[in-house]
Amino acid sequence: MTRAFLSLGSNLGDRLGYLWAAVEALGRGALLEVLGVSRVYETEPVEVEEAQPDYLNCVVEVEYGASALELLRFCQGIEAALGRDRKGEKLPRTVDVDILLFGEEVLEGPYLVVPHPGVGRTFNLRGLADLDARLYIPGCGMVGELLADASLAGVGEYGEGL
Ligand code: AMP
Repeated sequence: MTRAFLSLGSNLGDRLGYLWAAVEALGRGALLEVLGVSRVYETEPVEVEEAQPDYLNCVVEVEYGASALELLRFCQGIEAALGRDRKGEKLPRTVDVDILLFGEEVLEGPYLVVPHPGVGRTFNLRGLADLDARLYIPGCGMVGELLADASLAGVGEYGEGL
């Protein structure tokens, strides 16, 4: 079993409902156990060309019993089942599920880059810190230390949580 951390985001429709549905779908995976869910954060979209609704984001800690690539396929199946249209990569999305960390693996394949290139974004660091501030991100450093140096602008805690 490998301990992994997933980043969930939604900025379309019932955002909290989509996050919750994705967590539930993860938990139904035969090879996967959900160990924890961070608080929910509301974040301004980054790297987008046109104005978009704010995202709700959270981080989910899991244990998974197969490879990182199989976990990616499983996550993509959940995105598709929850109505994600993959055609516009930077467009609003019902739910996005990214693999932030997969054990201590470092992967730079055509379909999968781990740690995820966005792992250092504040909303991911805040979600990871909720679960384990002492977690080490290969090639980057310890979550709590990275967060201490990060700007908190544009990322707020979302009251309702999951
Ligand atoms: P996104 O629009 O953020 O869902 O990105 C989707 C694409 O990123 C897919 O084609 C994946 O193959 C690729 N990808 C690369 N690394 C990762 C990762 N760590 N987690 C999720 N998707 C990834």
